[in-house]
Amino acid sequence: MERVIGTTRITLVRGDITQQTVDVIVNAANSSLLGGGGVDGAIHRGGGPAILEECMAIRAAQGGCPPGQAVITTAGQLPARRVIHTVGPVWNGGGHGEAALLRSAYGRSLELAAEHGLRVVAFPSISTGAYRFPIGKAATTAFEAIIAAVGRHPEAFDEVRMVLFSAGDLAAYRDALTTAKVA
Ligand code: ADP
Repeated sequence: MERVIGTTRITLVRGDITQQTVDVIVNAANSSLLGGGGVDGAIHRGGGPAILEECMAIRAAQGGCPPGQAVITTAGQLPARRVIHTVGPVWNGGGHGEAALLRSAYGRSLELAAEHGLRVVAFPSISTGAYRFPIGKAATTAFEAIIAAVGRHPEAFDEVRMVLFSAGDLAAYRDALTTAKVA
């Protein structure tokens, strides 16, 4: 399943984010930047200590990374060239700005990728694991943000890939991508 906007392909695959051979993978990090479970644990395990060392340097320079923001590091031993660490919102019923923060997490990640000339970007399903954001709404919000960012940077990306861990998550993102409005 894919949709094409100008010269950018938006694609969906079922798989493991750490195994993607792309310019940059995005980490579903937490504000501490010190690692955690889920995607974060898999990226640090697979990439080795160089990623955490850079995260600690960023922490020393600017504190952590607030929800909706993103920072960039090496990918260590992973096949991707770089890792963008973004922090999604913790779902707390939906009335606390969660959708805007999730949109910002995708949007800031793509701004950083564009600034660094990273043309093929792979995302996991940010906030839908430990942070409990409902999958259908997360998928709709992710594509709103991705389509808006591609519109702002029509020349920047060859592919924006969503990498889903489960068949159920893949189905939710497929539905959302099918119905997403492209301006
Ligand atoms: P968050 O804390 O932002 O909710 P999680 O890492 O807990 O992030 O989970 C986000 C999503 O990523 C969940 O759907 C989870 O199943 C999925 N996931 C976990 N490990 C991987 C992986 N190695 N590759 C891709 N997706 C993964």
